[in-house]
Amino acid sequence: MNVNHLFDLSGRTALVTGSSRGLGRAMAEGLAAAGAVIILNGADKGRLDEAVAALTAAGYNARGLRFDVTDEAAVIAAFEMLDAEGVEVDILVNNAGIQFRRPMLDLETSDWRRVIDTNLTSAFVIGREAARRMARRGRGKVINIGSLTSELARATVAPYTVAKGGIKMLTKAMAAEWGELGIQANAIGPGYMLTDMNQALIDNPTFDAWVKGRTPARRWGRPDELAGTCVYLASAASDYVSGQIIYVDGGMISML
Ligand code: NDP
Repeated sequence: MNVNHLFDLSGRTALVTGSSRGLGRAMAEGLAAAGAVIILNGADKGRLDEAVAALTAAGYNARGLRFDVTDEAAVIAAFEMLDAEGVEVDILVNNAGIQFRRPMLDLETSDWRRVIDTNLTSAFVIGREAARRMARRGRGKVINIGSLTSELARATVAPYTVAKGGIKMLTKAMAAEWGELGIQANAIGPGYMLTDMNQALIDNPTFDAWVKGRTPARRWGRPDELAGTCVYLASAASDYVSGQIIYVDGGMISML
């Protein structure tokens, strides 16, 4: 049996939110390497332009689409612009996210809402816009980015934990409602990864030792280590897989 074709994304277009850097950028590069045309997204124009230039220079078919994932009007306008150009999104990766560390007793409601809006509500809004269009073609792949906090609470990141727990159930709800439309929805739960989001923790020797001690792999994850799982969930290899969350965490969730 030849299985290579199952992972071939030639002829597919993927939108990866928050792909100007970090995990989103690595997943976008993985999808591009599997043959997909990539639409990169971010809020900051400079970082987005730099990411598009880097992927293009590497020989990939990539473009940028800048919008704030929390701005519903901007999201809808972006999809309408793609409609006008005849661009169809076959693969959506809802990756854009922020983390905000503060104990709940000191947390402002506006900060709670900002974290929930960026990490969870955006995945619903962008997922809905993508799925309405995927439904017309009878196929599509939605990949939402969860976290270990989809399962576990950690102190000082309550709204993040609630948002990522919500991502897990949003993924199941999408799978339940959209399966008959030919759309699979799954999630990836990264462990502790080497990105800007974690820079303060990486630089903190106590936290660094905690991560290495608690992770069976005894190290942080590299962003490129998400690429294979992302390609799998975006490809025909996962056509009968839906509603799942796959942890890419060096085994940490089994040990905590
Ligand atoms: P980074 O902080 O390195 O990158 C975040 C990305 O999201 C950037 O591209 C940023 O764009 C974009 N972004 C943030 N807010 C918005 C917004 N309002 N609109 C558009 N784009 C936005 O984060 P990571 O790569 O580490 O994280 C990516 C995802 O993975 C997040 O959902 C995070 O919660 C999740 N995750 C990360 C883990 C880790 O260990 N790093 C572990 C588990 C989950 P810009 O450059 O314009 O700011």
